[in-house]
Amino acid sequence: MSKKVLITGAGIGGLATALRLAKKGFEVEIVEKNNQAGGRLNQIKKDGFTFDTGPSFFSMSYEFEEFARDCGIQLPFKYYSLDPLYSVHFSDNPKVFHLYKDLDKLAAQFDGIETDFKKKMEKYLKKSGRLFHDTVDLVIKNNFDSYLDYILTLMRVNPIHLPVLFRNFWQQVNQYFDSGEARQIISLVAFFLGRTPFDTMAVYTLLSYTEFKYDGYFNVEGGMYEIVKGFVKELEKENVKINYNVEITGFTANSQKLETLTDSTGRQWKADIFLVNADAAVFRNKVFKRPDFSDQKMAKKSWTMGYLTFYLGIKCKLPQVNHHNYYLGSNYVEYAGNIMQNPGTLEKPYYYVNVVSKHNPECAPEGCESLFFVCPVPNLLFKPDWSDRDAIVNSIIADFSQRIGKNIEREIVSKTIYTPEDWESRFNLYKGSGLGLSHNMDQIGALRPANFDEKYKNVFYVGASTLPGAGIPMAVISSKLAAERIVDYSKK
Ligand SMILES: Cc1cc2nc3c(=O)[nH]c(=O)nc-3n(C[C@H](O)[C@H](O)[C@H](O)COP(=O)(O)OP(=O)(O)OC[C@H]3O[C@@H](n4cnc5c(N)ncnc54)[C@H](O)[C@@H]3O)c2cc1C
Repeated sequence: MSKKVLITGAGIGGLATALRLAKKGFEVEIVEKNNQAGGRLNQIKKDGFTFDTGPSFFSMSYEFEEFARDCGIQLPFKYYSLDPLYSVHFSDNPKVFHLYKDLDKLAAQFDGIETDFKKKMEKYLKKSGRLFHDTVDLVIKNNFDSYLDYILTLMRVNPIHLPVLFRNFWQQVNQYFDSGEARQIISLVAFFLGRTPFDTMAVYTLLSYTEFKYDGYFNVEGGMYEIVKGFVKELEKENVKINYNVEITGFTANSQKLETLTDSTGRQWKADIFLVNADAAVFRNKVFKRPDFSDQKMAKKSWTMGYLTFYLGIKCKLPQVNHHNYYLGSNYVEYAGNIMQNPGTLEKPYYYVNVVSKHNPECAPEGCESLFFVCPVPNLLFKPDWSDRDAIVNSIIADFSQRIGKNIEREIVSKTIYTPEDWESRFNLYKGSGLGLSHNMDQIGALRPANFDEKYKNVFYVGASTLPGAGIPMAVISSKLAAERIVDYSKK
């Protein structure tokens, strides 16, 4: 008889593992606290507009292709490469920088700004590429059974990279580039890990290689939520049931195994094996109440920043705005040095704007545009009070209007705002931390909350706060690592 796996959470990590396991003959069922699947990769439909709520593009498309091959399916969504990857605007410089993957086109953007840009970029990407290829299979796409296993694996990484361990992202970029513009633009990708270039390890400059060289960024036809819809359809074919509006709050267990998970109504959910896609640290804190994840210990961990996101439907077109845009100020070093902890940075916030309807016209009514703003902000540990959210949002709208030369304030017909409080309550994200645990030296690999449980041998974890880390491709890799654990366990 096939073993039953109960998955808590229908985020991308949970959905991907569900399909892998169903294809291997497990009986799979999912419980999800919200009324639709996707977790942070979600969708709002409102006032005739459609918005992606979290991710707006993804990298490492080959991870999805590998996933499809593993499951023996056609990938159930269509994606296309972004070119330029995105555009960057500075408040004190009228020049708009378009980030092309083609190094000649990219170098042309830095004419008169950074001498020998192309040569420097090639050298920088060569190093980032070596970092990537020397670590991806060993460290990122690997399960670790113990700290010793992890240390022995690290010892197999080429020692040529040792000096990088003692630098941060910003210092590494500064070794290759001289101009403020190049340094800021190349180091922006550190924000994609939920921290800043000043507190992200230099080893993560490997992300520059994945964005410019090893295969770039991708959008999904019809919007990012098509990924989730496609996965849910595939799961339906495998008879995997997703039970919505079910929040797990408790459990019953014997000394070795988890027996049931209990939801907020008291209903018990039984299975042979349990996979947790809810945040791996939060679940151990809130549901299992583990001493190693006590409230005090959780507050001492390093968490990624929060996000203030808002979704605007406007009744005009914005031909002057590109699809993906970063709007920076003129004080990058000071701003990035403070953003994690100091709400004062929100007086002049930096932000990202995605014109979702630019390539997906079906996301807005005729003649309209759907806009998605993301502003990095301190999480609730450092800014617990969001009563000023409307003032911050209005100041960003005013700044954006001024920069694009069109007052969009009076064009707004739909507005939805998520503060870190909303991110926390909707998806059980610790203190509204957008990407979960940070990727510090002491919170990666075997030092991250493990993808197998410390106490119950039939419990496993998948997603951003366990191995290997945050982001859509990492969730897909995480699903492979978790499925491997479950298959091994079920053979015992
Ligand atoms: C604003 C924002 C922008 C981002 N942009 C990008 C991007 O451009 N590209 C990219 O690659 N990544 C991006 N990310 C990161 C990416 O969204 C996440 O890393 C990824 O979606 C995490 O997936 P997951 O499966 O680990 O977790 P989640 O998506 O958090 O899924 C976990 C699920 O578990 C459910 N759950 C939690 N607790 C319980 C419980 N007790 N009972 C039942 N269900 C529960 C939650 O509701 C949720 O559905 C972004 C994130 C944010 C917040």
